[in-house]
Amino acid sequence: MDLYSGYINNLIEELSALPGIGTKSAQRLAFYLINQPKESVERLASAMTEAKAQVRYCSECFTLTDRDKCPICANENRDHRTIMVVENSRDLAAYEKTGKYNGVYHVLHGAISPMLGIGPGDIRLKELIERLQHDVDEVIIATNSSLEGETTAMYISKLIKPSGIKVSRIASGVPVGGDLENIDEMTLLRALEGRVEL
Ligand code: ZN
Repeated sequence: MDLYSGYINNLIEELSALPGIGTKSAQRLAFYLINQPKESVERLASAMTEAKAQVRYCSECFTLTDRDKCPICANENRDHRTIMVVENSRDLAAYEKTGKYNGVYHVLHGAISPMLGIGPGDIRLKELIERLQHDVDEVIIATNSSLEGETTAMYISKLIKPSGIKVSRIASGVPVGGDLENIDEMTLLRALEGRVEL
């Protein structure tokens, strides 16, 4: 039995496909939206389609940006010879918030996970190796301390080692299985300062 109109059902279905939104939340959001003025719903819809149309990957570090190069890569005052490797743009933002890191980043967009069938070719690793053809002094691996993050860190260090470029891993202190984005700035800074060479 269909309780609602097809349009509402469709809206609920689309909303419940979003991460962290169950059927109940999707219903609440759907009815909220229906009761909003037309203009505010249109603003939301166009914010989504415009973001999708304009946002792209930085041609250097692969973080999300709306220009060819993100503001960090375009900044000549940053140390372009130090590259911090992170799993996603949210981790990059967490380190940027500390205001104490002056190098650049490389965003992998994931981590190696044999269990989930995610291999080295599924993340932006090839692009990282290409960047190392230019002058680079140090690669700081700041993947999460989850099993996937550690596997990825090991893989990257083995890959880079032969080139003679210094490879380091942020110190533990970041709790095991912890998402970088949920960790406070002091802990992030300690982890960065206490990094060990691999
Ligand atoms: Zn960039």
